[in-house]
Amino acid sequence: LFVTFEGGDGAGKTTQASMLEEWLTGDGRTVVRTREPGGTEVGVRIREIVLHHRGHIAARAEALLYAADRAHHVETVVQPAIARGDVVIQDRYLDSSVAYQGAGRVLDPDDVRALSLWATGGLLPDLTVLLDLDPTAARQRLDADDKPFDRLEAEKNDFHARVREGFLALARREPDRFVVLDATQTPEVLAARVRDAVVARFR
Ligand code: C5P
Ligand code: MG
Repeated sequence: LFVTFEGGDGAGKTTQASMLEEWLTGDGRTVVRTREPGGTEVGVRIREIVLHHRGHIAARAEALLYAADRAHHVETVVQPAIARGDVVIQDRYLDSSVAYQGAGRVLDPDDVRALSLWATGGLLPDLTVLLDLDPTAARQRLDADDKPFDRLEAEKNDFHARVREGFLALARREPDRFVVLDATQTPEVLAARVRDAVVARFR
């Protein structure tokens, strides 16, 4: 089973991925918890490049770097784990590219998606949890948690509004793969929803 968490910065993806991992592990499942960008040694280097040069890198180059990270990560981490029968829980996947490099940077979302599908050999998650949150609320949340919001600030608010809309458009297009959750709910309520969606996919 391949489960991805998507959504803007500060939506709570990492928290929900941890809670799901804990629950599945307690249930006796073998879980591989990973993330993009940066889920491999190669990916850590690519992550440094894209984040360091953020806002100053050609949009197409950025899209290709994320796709390169994803290609290496899928081949060396995700596919082997799926082949072993492990559950893969991943923070961000190709939908982030369609939302950030597509809707955010205004590349053609279909091109970005096609690029990712080529990079991954067409691997799609069994379940994608979209944690939907207004970008202003996300920024307030990162502030309150005393987490750096420099990456959020590095972009104008309309960028994040487009990213949010991009994610929601993806969810509308693939309603069977996506579960969209209102990320203003408590972590415990969200975790219960996530568990329901995962259990439904195990059947
Ligand atoms: O979620 P994480 O902190 O790993 O993401 C790192 C940064 O990269 C975030 O600010 C996110 O907005 C950005 N990102 C991006 N395009 C992607 C994936 C992440 O711009 N495809
Ligand atoms: Mg995170």
